[in-house]
Amino acid sequence: MSTLAAPDVNTSVAVSVREINHWIDGRLVPGTSGRFSDVYNPATGRVQAKVPLADVSELNVAVEAAQRAFPEWAAQPPLRRARVLFRFRELFEQHLEEFASIITSEHGKVLSDARGEATRGLEVVEFATGIPQLLKGEYTEQVGAGIDSWSMRQPLGVVAGITPFNFPAMVPMWMFPVALACGNAFILKPSERDPSASVLIAELLKKAGLPDGIFNVVHGDKQAVDAILEHPGISAVSFVGSTPIAEYVYRKGTATGKRIQALGGAKNHMIVMPDADLDQAADALVGAAYGSAGERCMAISVAVAVTNATADALIDKLKERIAKLVIAPGTEENAELGPLVTGAHLEKVRGYVELGTQEGAELLVDGRDGALPRGDGFFLGACLFDHVKPEMRIYNEEIFGPVLALVRARDFSTALQLVNEHEFGNGVALFTRDGDTARAFAHQVQAGMVGINVPIPVPMAFHSFGGWKRSLFGDHAMHGPEGVRFYTRIKTVTARWPTGIRVGVDTTMPTLG
Ligand code: NAD
Repeated sequence: MSTLAAPDVNTSVAVSVREINHWIDGRLVPGTSGRFSDVYNPATGRVQAKVPLADVSELNVAVEAAQRAFPEWAAQPPLRRARVLFRFRELFEQHLEEFASIITSEHGKVLSDARGEATRGLEVVEFATGIPQLLKGEYTEQVGAGIDSWSMRQPLGVVAGITPFNFPAMVPMWMFPVALACGNAFILKPSERDPSASVLIAELLKKAGLPDGIFNVVHGDKQAVDAILEHPGISAVSFVGSTPIAEYVYRKGTATGKRIQALGGAKNHMIVMPDADLDQAADALVGAAYGSAGERCMAISVAVAVTNATADALIDKLKERIAKLVIAPGTEENAELGPLVTGAHLEKVRGYVELGTQEGAELLVDGRDGALPRGDGFFLGACLFDHVKPEMRIYNEEIFGPVLALVRARDFSTALQLVNEHEFGNGVALFTRDGDTARAFAHQVQAGMVGINVPIPVPMAFHSFGGWKRSLFGDHAMHGPEGVRFYTRIKTVTARWPTGIRVGVDTTMPTLG
């Protein structure tokens, strides 16, 4: 067991509120700012912990620790760094159930989903253990007479990650395994809504042999984020969260000379063609729209049915499946749809459902009605709108809840145009049996991650994850080859060794001649 206190997992008895700590320089450090935020158990609606919100001075201590530790870590052979990650991988796997339980307790997602999240994060660790191969440079012999040239990738220094609530383990793991493997020191500012998984990660990294100061967790809100963006000792920032904050982080961070990758929000469409296997499409839609209560950046929130006949048939199949969804606390074995993360978020999502009806969309399934678990948990059942139009706010804005909007399109090109004109371009899917349509879709669609008969096309760790348009600010996607590029900078050496070649003084630009 870790030194973390056991989380309050849906108990009905009152528990005392524990205080979560920062992790700085290899140890737990209590917050000193005097500011805290409540951490809820979304299934009970009760506060179960409080997390400190760091101020500039606490962030500075973490950066100093990282700066002290960095040179020795960066000088390690990549294989030694990989070995730490191999050991971390084993420890993480041994603690997988503990991670799942912490995630369910603070985020609310069902346990099977929490295990899935942790496993997807682990894949990035597995990718990063290949760092000796990934860091291999390029070499060209004889670029000029007696001159050889080679390139190498070197770490940036101290880098930071700022992460959202919806994947408290997986999103940090998109970042730090690659950053550490490349030789950087890392400061993680996790979401203040579900911060405990990060602290367990830190403890396991230490047990795996990571030197103190190389991985730090500083909890906080805007103050901590601003301190990160303004700190001259931090070279790069990876951010994942909503689009307004992603844009803010990108603009402020690049203005202070940092390298920034900032992944934002989404409104992922799934186009269903008349020739699709509609049972397969309906199964996929229900999982992708309502899994994790719709709180996934790759959730499908818009279904585009091509032709009215397809829409009508699809709706019948969706309603059938929605009626069978088990809405329950994530700890219950058969739970499929858990609570939303906070009461405030629940109210926001319910507000969008109300707005949709006012905008003239037809609410076919109202998740606000019906049998929701008793108590004060933040539950909302699956909602399904038909006749959603591109000018409606429920079509344009990210709702981030179990709300699926169905848009009817007359043909494939109208459906494609809808996707391409949307401000977001994270994930997208097409369900069809036709190869020509699928190929045209893959080539023409304006989105970063594309699924063909795959509803949630999250790339594996050895590919890179990232959207287009206002779903990503910056030049690099996360993990995979893009991750290695983001966390390193290239140096190219041109060297002349042979003695006896005299070039004499030459003030012209060197060329091969
Ligand atoms: P959020 O933008 O509210 O928070 C993300 C991070 O920013 C948190 O660490 C938070 O503390 C910090 N933050 C919040 N407000 C801030 C402010 N005013 N100034 C500076 N920092 C601030 O996002 P969230 O609600 O935690 O997560 C959900 C969002 O994340 C959704 O929009 C979802 O689409 C997005 N997301 C995107 C991806 C992706 O890959 N594109 C992946 C996961 C989540």
